[in-house]
Amino acid sequence: MPARMGAEPVVVMGGGLAGLSLAVQLLDRKPDLRLTIVEPRAAYTDDRSWSWWDTDPHPFTHLAAERWRHWRVRTAAGSVTAEAGRYRYCRLPALAVYREGERRLEAAPNAQLCRGLRAHAVRPWPHGMLTVETDAGPLEATAMFDGRPPGRDAFAGTRAPLLWQQFLGRRVRLESAPFDPGIVELMDFRPGQQDGLHFLYVLPASREEALVEATWFVPAPLPRPLVERRLAAELDRLAAGKAMESLAEEAGCLPMTTAVPPAPALPGLIPIGMRAGVLRPATGYGFLAIQRHSAALAERLLGGRPGPVRPHRADTLLLDEIFLRFLLRRPEAAPALFRRLFERCPADRLVRFLSACGGPADLAAAIAALPARPMLSAAWAGARARARLGPA
Ligand SMILES: Cc1cc2nc3c(=O)[nH]c(=O)nc-3n(C[C@H](O)[C@H](O)[C@H](O)COP(=O)(O)OP(=O)(O)OC[C@H]3O[C@@H](n4cnc5c(N)ncnc54)[C@H](O)[C@@H]3O)c2cc1C
Repeated sequence: MPARMGAEPVVVMGGGLAGLSLAVQLLDRKPDLRLTIVEPRAAYTDDRSWSWWDTDPHPFTHLAAERWRHWRVRTAAGSVTAEAGRYRYCRLPALAVYREGERRLEAAPNAQLCRGLRAHAVRPWPHGMLTVETDAGPLEATAMFDGRPPGRDAFAGTRAPLLWQQFLGRRVRLESAPFDPGIVELMDFRPGQQDGLHFLYVLPASREEALVEATWFVPAPLPRPLVERRLAAELDRLAAGKAMESLAEEAGCLPMTTAVPPAPALPGLIPIGMRAGVLRPATGYGFLAIQRHSAALAERLLGGRPGPVRPHRADTLLLDEIFLRFLLRRPEAAPALFRRLFERCPADRLVRFLSACGGPADLAAAIAALPARPMLSAAWAGARARARLGPA
């Protein structure tokens, strides 16, 4: 139950990554801001890990639990290990973000995090305000940020290319000690592609302990029992008949698309996080994009120009659309393509390109590393689809 309900200048629906990141950015700029976050979870748990390359600083940088200098892409035909110059691949336990968000909100005199409270319908309210129904009554605000997850139906019928990044991961401790703590297995395609484009993602903490994630890029989500079976088989292989301890589990099914969920046309209602289409279409990564988006939204709001912010550059969207069309048309060619990209593009340039902070030379290096003919044919298919159907 919130400490007080009524008119608030700023309400954020959803105290997940985007809601808490935005709150921290707002409070950094205006510590006495009147701000309410509505979050249905009564208590946070360590429900996931966030990883990113540390290309730019943000308020959670110092909380990273692990940092790696090497990452590898493996296929049946060979592997490539990239060595970073400037950047590290970092992992942050979600609970560290939640705790930092809670700490910042508790320390702010006029901010509150209302846990155990769900937001419902949002309506216009007199004097340019908005009102949202919550389990504890209505709440009014001049600016309302909507970070409630959009749900899979929000993308039904889209004309943009759409894949689902489905994954099930388990943090395990294995007596067989099969991990190399110095190298992240970014994409290990060796388990095979029989259910769709599939790879293992392994974040090692030590020789014995790692987060092992079975991941698919598929046009329609796979049944959960199949996903569980495949992960269990891989873990058994790694355990090699020795003892295995399961420490935690995380799962997701993220849209990989250039389509943005439709938003109601209510001035003052601003989408954030996945609802704003912040996940990078071609990778499903969202952590760093959410940090940048939150900073830009806070800047706008406190600069007296509240409103939405486009999460991606136009060139990023165009390239990602071509890449997604390629993955949809030629999933069997994807393992070799990813290996080639990591082999031919210098590591730091590729990191900047993947983290959407590259310049023209980084973009050129990434494009030059990709095979020209299938990319051009995917680009051509996209151009034809747009000409036939109009923009997505
Ligand atoms: C398991 C997992 C691992 C991921 N790992 C990475 C990674 O390593 N790197 C990366 O870049 N990206 C990763 N992502 C993608 C992305 O960064 C995350 O999905 C991120 O949590 C998105 O932030 P968000 O705020 O949009 O959504 P969430 O963090 O899911 O927050 C949404 C919030 O809305 C709340 N909510 C729901 N309904 C209501 C309601 N009615 N009223 C109010 N609040 C409501 C929820 O309780 C939740 O707190 C991962 C995603 C998942 C699912």
